[in-house]
Amino acid sequence: MKITKIETLVCHAKMRNWIFVKVLTDHPGLFGWGEATLEWHTRAVVGAIADLETLVIGEDPTRVEHLWQMMWRQHFWHGHGVVRSTAIAGIDLALWDIVGKIHGVPCHKLWGGSVRDSIRLYCHLGGGNMESFYGTAVDNAKQFAELALEAVEEGFTAFKSMAVPPTMPIEGLKPIKAAEACVAAMRGAVGDEIDIMVDCHARPSPAMGMQFAKALEPYGLYFFEEPCWPEHLEGLAAINASVATPIATGERLTHLAAFRDLFAVRGCDVCQLDLTHCGGFTEARRIAALADAHRIGIAPHNPQGPVSTAASLEFGFSQPGYIICESVHHDVPWREAVVDEGFTIDPATRTVTPGTRPGLGIEINEDEVRRHPFEQEVPQRVFYQDGAVGDW
Ligand SMILES: [Mg+2]
Repeated sequence: MKITKIETLVCHAKMRNWIFVKVLTDHPGLFGWGEATLEWHTRAVVGAIADLETLVIGEDPTRVEHLWQMMWRQHFWHGHGVVRSTAIAGIDLALWDIVGKIHGVPCHKLWGGSVRDSIRLYCHLGGGNMESFYGTAVDNAKQFAELALEAVEEGFTAFKSMAVPPTMPIEGLKPIKAAEACVAAMRGAVGDEIDIMVDCHARPSPAMGMQFAKALEPYGLYFFEEPCWPEHLEGLAAINASVATPIATGERLTHLAAFRDLFAVRGCDVCQLDLTHCGGFTEARRIAALADAHRIGIAPHNPQGPVSTAASLEFGFSQPGYIICESVHHDVPWREAVVDEGFTIDPATRTVTPGTRPGLGIEINEDEVRRHPFEQEVPQRVFYQDGAVGDW
């Protein structure tokens, strides 16, 4: 059996262009789906996949680890830059989809079978609608509470908010109090039985991240995400050591050695690897094993398209340390028209039970994808009050 072609299908989904990767074989009807979505880098990733294609055409698609090693090492530059690691991930996911289809089993059965009966989903405030999640101002605590109640009404038992505003390396009490008011309003609205997460988007400096973490500590967050830049391992470690709230990070790390360094300093208690950015299942399985050795939970980053979601769930059914899966459902109204999924979501509890379809268990509606061709993503640029550049 040989790989004959790799196609990339770009689907403009408002905030992101979903990049679906289709790996075709010389066996009629046998192909695999992957996803390599990387917002604001769409053309670069599509180009990187075309570059990688030259390495894998004519190769046996079932030698997934061997092909991963080729893609990672055989262009001299190792594959850890985010464009390349995302491109590798898209192909790797598709290869595992093919292997599952050959054996007639879901991917998680290839890795020892299901380790749990169901997976809990969490949503973004507004369900992943760009304006609600990113556009709700941090001085509008009432709206945070209203959106939190909407999430609970939709069946979610956990949701994530952007309750920490962009801040300069040092600021006074105002942003701290605003964040605290938002979290207090959400906690007051939903009570103690719902889990609340706050994503800082790595906006704060380590010093500001520490202040936000301590101010929000009394509200019992399920986790507190990216409280400073992912490059600042010592800042992450200091914050994680200073509060009982679990610190989450990892969505911008692309390879095993980066997670090794993060875990070695105990920079987090929740690992947010992204199957579509960290080299696919092949590398993610190594990262998860390392997280297990540190007793660090796995909660994959997954705000992308439906292949990323299917991959994040297949991974979760195989990984003991997996705790919860990120999901979006209101990003575009036609999301369900793009994909036919094998798993089942209970709308009352937003928990997922596995399907029995082989591989990733999904079918992509290519006609629907073609209805949403590439468009440049909307810029999300942040400037501080003095005009200096901040972090989105
Ligand atoms: Mg995040």
